[in-house]
Amino acid sequence: MSDECRAGCGACCIAPSISSAIPGMPEGKPAGVRCAQLDEHNLCRLFGDPRRPAVCEQFQFDTAVCGRQREEALITLTWLEDNT
Ligand code: SF4
Ligand code: SF4
Repeated sequence: MSDECRAGCGACCIAPSISSAIPGMPEGKPAGVRCAQLDEHNLCRLFGDPRRPAVCEQFQFDTAVCGRQREEALITLTWLEDNT
């Protein structure tokens, strides 16, 4: 089992809400909505771009959150969003 971010997962760019402005989402991102910068391969279009929100920069892979596959990550992140 890998313990690094699964490229193409994108769960942390969908389930959580993000309060800071994102290009295309000036009010931030509601929970459960795909980020406008998540491309069709579930990769962030803003890697290395200063417009990428700091919260995205800081989000680190964590097995407890990301689980073994995308569905687990979506479930856990949605739970965290609703319960923290
Ligand atoms: S939920 Fe975890 S594995 Fe999925 S993209 Fe985010 S950091 Fe990577
Ligand atoms: S800006 Fe990039 S890393 Fe942040 S939520 Fe959107 S797609 Fe994900």
